[in-house]
Amino acid sequence: KVSSKRHLWTEEDVTRTLPVRRPSSHKGSHGKGLIIAGSKSMTGAPILTTRACHRLGAGLVTLATPCSAHPAIASQLIEATFHLCPSKNGEIDDLNISNDVLEKRYDAIAIGPGLGRNNNGFFIEALIKGYHKPLIIDADGLYYLKYFLPGLLVRKQVTILTPHLGEFAYLTNESIKMIEKNRFQLSKEFAEKYGVYLVLKGPYTIVTTPEGHQFINTTGNSSLAKGGTGDVLTGMVLALIMQQKDVQMAISNATFLHGRAADYLTENGWNSLSVVASDLVNVLPQVLDQLQ
Ligand code: AMP
Ligand code: MG
Repeated sequence: KVSSKRHLWTEEDVTRTLPVRRPSSHKGSHGKGLIIAGSKSMTGAPILTTRACHRLGAGLVTLATPCSAHPAIASQLIEATFHLCPSKNGEIDDLNISNDVLEKRYDAIAIGPGLGRNNNGFFIEALIKGYHKPLIIDADGLYYLKYFLPGLLVRKQVTILTPHLGEFAYLTNESIKMIEKNRFQLSKEFAEKYGVYLVLKGPYTIVTTPEGHQFINTTGNSSLAKGGTGDVLTGMVLALIMQQKDVQMAISNATFLHGRAADYLTENGWNSLSVVASDLVNVLPQVLDQLQ
């Protein structure tokens, strides 16, 4: 029996809650987002996250990336602007920008895809402590987060973590088997303890609120089991949290649309072996059109 605090997030919920663009709107009304991502050996992840964020309606997207990786990444992003960071080991060494300026310029930040793990990640600690707006942490951002977890206990603003099973196992010091068996309980405990929105990814992704309410996603298929698909989701979550007030709705809608993009492809002649992450971004227009 499903407890009263667990809900399926349905297509009806999505159509009821998806943001609509007002005729009078301008790019500033749809959010200015910052993505902190990429490194010399992971150039694709930031591209996917940034493109997905634009495709889901974000007004302005800036990518902060190490200067050493910037030329390769920028050549694949026409709509984005960039913040160049000092590079060490081919990865971001420092953000070189204060929290005050970040807060003035950006409505929300997503950090993590393709960051690498070879530096100290202190800039993540600084964001957790001093960036007082919504923060999404994914991938290698979660790797660094493990060292700064106590910072979440005092952080008051919206924090969203998007681990897959392996990343959640790492964060909690549990085995993947243990997480798989107790997905609902463990993600609830973690979300409540640290006051975060936890998106535990996989088939039937669970979105848990800081209050312990859980929303189960039903879209998506095994074509998503391929590198880069999680990076797409991160950009989609960033786009929607800037465009709708209710954080859980924004996350659940992004997760639903991400899975629906995979379903759309496999139902329209794309073999599930062949779907790649950028295909998801490219069919978002059709997926959205079917819902609105
Ligand atoms: P990541 O591991 O960070 O690249 O994220 C993978 C993304 O694909 C997440 O959104 C998962 O929920 C999704 N995903 C992976 N495998 C499956 C599967 N077999 N069925 C449904 N969704 C999946
Ligand atoms: Mg990932």
